[in-house]
Amino acid sequence: MKNELPKSVSVNGIDYEIFTVDEIDSDPLTNGTIYYDKQLIYVKASLAPQRMKQVLLHEIVHAIFYESGIEDTEEEVDILSRVLFSATKNSNGSFPLLLL
Ligand SMILES: [Zn+2]
Repeated sequence: MKNELPKSVSVNGIDYEIFTVDEIDSDPLTNGTIYYDKQLIYVKASLAPQRMKQVLLHEIVHAIFYESGIEDTEEEVDILSRVLFSATKNSNGSFPLLLL
């Protein structure tokens, strides 16, 4: 696993820029968010490196649903992103979608 986050991610041909930020929506409990209209993903900079990657993957899963025209719920996104995160960790880099 690399320690730094990627600078962008392409989802169905739409490029989302990825930024680490000090605070999100003035809410200290929010670790990440996605702005579909501006094609931006924010991840809180103070998180541990592994947590940052988990949060980023969560936001990418939101993007996958959105760019596929599917309405998602937090529960669906949470489950899918946790399974994918686990698969990435166990694949020894052989899961090219998720080289986080
Ligand atoms: Zn979410």
